Amino acid sequence: MPHYEPADALQTPRFVGIRTFARLPYVQDLDGVDLAYVGSPFDTGVSFRAGARFGPAAIRDASILLRPYNPGLNVDVFGTLSCIDYGDLSVVPGYIEDSYERVEAGLAPLLDAGVTPVILGGDHSITLAHLRAVSRAHGPLGLVQFDSHSDTWDSYFGRAYNHGTTFKRAIEEGLLDPSRCIQVGLRGPLYDPGDYDVARGLGLDLVPATEVRRLGLDATIGRIRERLGAGAAFLSFDIDFLDPAYAPGTGTPEVGGFTTFEAQHLVRGLTGARFVAYDLVEVLPSYDHGQITALAAANIAYEFAGLTALRHKARQATDDKG
Ligand code: MN
Ligand code: MN
Repeated sequence: MPHYEPADALQTPRFVGIRTFARLPYVQDLDGVDLAYVGSPFDTGVSFRAGARFGPAAIRDASILLRPYNPGLNVDVFGTLSCIDYGDLSVVPGYIEDSYERVEAGLAPLLDAGVTPVILGGDHSITLAHLRAVSRAHGPLGLVQFDSHSDTWDSYFGRAYNHGTTFKRAIEEGLLDPSRCIQVGLRGPLYDPGDYDVARGLGLDLVPATEVRRLGLDATIGRIRERLGAGAAFLSFDIDFLDPAYAPGTGTPEVGGFTTFEAQHLVRGLTGARFVAYDLVEVLPSYDHGQITALAAANIAYEFAGLTALRHKARQATDDKG
């Protein structure tokens, strides 16, 4: 069985080579693969700034400084897991339903092979295709969504599919189990004072940014873990969860947000949850400065692999005992 890991930066400098996530090999044969980074470069489901189609490339470019050992989680991420960069899924720019079909079909081989995908967007509309693919393999999913927005509006411009309607559609399609779903970090002006109640009416738990501040990070982590339970879950991270100071390169920024340290701490707290897939969306390089946003995104996507590596190790330990 192959074990795929990044090129060794003690042997060849980091800036040498074609850009892949963390300098992992670009591989499409899934034999012996535990986790795959995969681009989902669709960005015409947005309501404001476009350009997240270039997100995966920017995140890869900023990811080449990552190292194999994650001291925040105490795990040798790339020693534990065989990881690849699977390249990008194909889309049809401007045609959201065609893109959903392509992206869902493109993810199927990974899920059929039992590979954990870490999907790099793309705007948040494309998450509906990710959830369709992952739910087809694992049934209705639990969800933790880090986002300054709920993305549960019914329609935009009279249309059902948009980055502001993703999670309402996902619930209607039965892709999510709302009783195991939680949205964290919501803030910013709304259309109506009842907007959050609409999301709660769908069965979701909401932890707006002000409540995260009131609870503190560790109590927030406890609430997320309890909500997710032991079932299969999806982690969706909209980079606008971060304050624009930490993530200026995004489509619909909201002030009053979180630092990259706080995001790392929250994600690292989710050990033990059964994440079967992750996505990180809404990185918009043309509004980024000095790779601030792309670097944050690369590091958060690296934390996802750390969570899966810890689960992998825990499973191996159980197998060894049994
Ligand atoms: Mn979003
Ligand atoms: Mn958002």
